[in-house]
Amino acid sequence: MRYDVILFDLDGTLLGLDMEVFLPAYFQHIGKWVSTRGMDPGPFLDHLVASTEAMLQSEDPERKNKDVFLEHFLPSLPGLDQEGTVDLFDRFYEEAFPDLRSLSSPIPEAVEVVRALRGAGCRLVLATNPVFPRRAIDHRLRWAGLDLEDFEHITSYENSFHCKPRLQYYRDLVDLSGVSPGSALMVGNDPWEDMIAGELGMDTFLVDGYVVVRPEEVAFPPTYQGSLSDVVSVAVGSR
Ligand SMILES: [Mg+2]
Repeated sequence: MRYDVILFDLDGTLLGLDMEVFLPAYFQHIGKWVSTRGMDPGPFLDHLVASTEAMLQSEDPERKNKDVFLEHFLPSLPGLDQEGTVDLFDRFYEEAFPDLRSLSSPIPEAVEVVRALRGAGCRLVLATNPVFPRRAIDHRLRWAGLDLEDFEHITSYENSFHCKPRLQYYRDLVDLSGVSPGSALMVGNDPWEDMIAGELGMDTFLVDGYVVVRPEEVAFPPTYQGSLSDVVSVAVGSR
């Protein structure tokens, strides 16, 4: 085994999903859903976007992403307390989020690759940008045909203190895994948000297929590039 732990991005890496298409549809869907609950979707969406941005920008090591989000979001929407807001999002992710599945497509190799790595004894972490609640991540893992149990840790907004592309997000993950950056491999489809892990000393693998287009100044060169299936030989091959 060449690495002690392998970190996988989800969207565009293990699940066929284009965020440029998915996010607008997601916002439209949640706006429509809150409007059926008597809320004005315009202000709701404005606050959702602004509070998500606050979470993305937060550098506070003491506040989890969920707390940053709620502290920003709650004062914006009079009439909703913390419990009501959490409940509202929980219900959306349970009832309506699954409708968005048609915007994704499973990547057949994903299941094979995860199975092969687990079979070889690799420790796997799902390093998906923790801007979503765990429920939304579990849905997408199932859309990908993957088993939640295959990952020893899954980053979500409930358990994370930073977002991609902050290096501290990756620092927290290697610390949590108890490994040095040099013995971890980050696999993803984003030359910026995923490949930046290389700046910490991690090896990186850019997966072809859904590569995000980034300006040259924020496109970090990957250690490896290839198909998802190639990750197995890179991860398990001899040093
Ligand atoms: Mg991705």
